[in-house]
Formats: sequence, C-alpha cells, structure tokens
Amino acid sequence: MEEAARIFIVEDERRIARFLQMELEHEGFKTATESNGRRAYERILQENYDLVLLDLMLPEMDGLEICRNVRQLSDVPIIMLTAKDDLEDKVNGLDIGANDYMTKPFAIQELLARIRAALRAHQPAAETTDGEILVAGDLVMYPGRYEVKVKGEPVELTKKEYMLLEYLLRNKRMVLSRDQILQTVWGYDYIGDTNVVDVYIRYLRSKIDERFGQKFIHTMRGVGYVIKD
Ligand code: CA
Repeated sequence: MEEAARIFIVEDERRIARFLQMELEHEGFKTATESNGRRAYERILQENYDLVLLDLMLPEMDGLEICRNVRQLSDVPIIMLTAKDDLEDKVNGLDIGANDYMTKPFAIQELLARIRAALRAHQPAAETTDGEILVAGDLVMYPGRYEVKVKGEPVELTKKEYMLLEYLLRNKRMVLSRDQILQTVWGYDYIGDTNVVDVYIRYLRSKIDERFGQKFIHTMRGVGYVIKD
C-alpha cells in the first residue's frame, strides 16, 4: 500500500486550518498545521512534507516570502491560498515558484483535485536518505551530502569544522560548553589543548559569520557557544 502523503497546512485562521485538516485527513492524507510564518518556513525545510498549503497573509513572514525562500532549497509542491482575488498576487505566487494557486473561499473538492494533481506531477525522485536539512537563518547544512551553504553559496569546511558546525546546528539555540563540544567533536580521549574549540570556532566565524557579514555563532562568556538564526 502506498504511504499517505503528508500535507503541511500553513494557515493562521484556526477555523480554516481545522477545516482543511479534517477534510484532508478524511481523504486519507496525513496533516500538520502551523500558524506562524517564520516557524512554517523552518518546518517546511526541516520536516519532510509531500505538499504545502500556504496561506498568503501570515504573522512574521508572509506566504510569498516563505515560498521564495523555500524554493531556493526545496522543490516541495506548494499550493498558495489567499483571501485576495488579486491578479497581481496570482502572478507573484506562480512567479516565485508556487505550483498552484487558489482563492478563498474555495470548494474543497476543487482543492483536493489540485492537491492530487500537484502530488502526481511531483514524481518523487528515488527515495534518498540524504534529504535531511539543518537550518539557522540563511545557513543551511545538508548532512547527507556533506554540504554547507549560506544564502545559496557553498562554504568549504574541513572535516572538524564541519563536525563542529553540525553539532552546533543540531543543538540550535542551546548553549554548548567547551567541554561538551570537545567531547562530542574531538572525543573523550582527546589529549591536547582545550583551546582547540576556540580556535575552530574562530575558523568557522571567518568562513561564515565574517564572510557573509551575519552573526550566527555567539559566545556566551564563561559558558560556551551557541548558534542562532
Ligand atoms: Ca491569513
């Protein structure tokens, strides 16, 4: 049996989100919902959805911006939903990579038909294990591919720099002590200068923060380091 497609409903009107969720689950889809634009953007990249229903007007980041940003990194099918029957928005939505577009209020049967069409058109590539993505703002790591990009530009890292960055990203917004970093990245049996952590943080900062003029890696004095969006 085919596995149920996972549909991400990004909609800040609770009533509509709930209605879509009920209808889609009734049709056998799996669903998740999000009402905040910025969180939706992160979840689209981090959680593996088969299709996104994307409202236009959202708090913190609107649907057009989400769509534009997601498209730099992912080809997940996106159907935009909007209350505005505005030709300009329609053109915009498709221009920036939305697969389809519907104006509210819409007939649920039509939306279901378009969802199925978009899922069919998006022939999934052979199942890969390298689909995981770690994100902090404009910084993206593809752990399975051993790749790091900032604003779409590749960043060359040594193995240790990469491991350090991956550890920070997997614990985003959590302050990690030098000891934790040392034990995880260099191993329990590391015998050498404990300043090695600070040295490698400096390497990462020069390749990422300084090169792109954006602060990702923060020092918590006397505690350790943390990566943030
Ligand atoms: Ca809205």
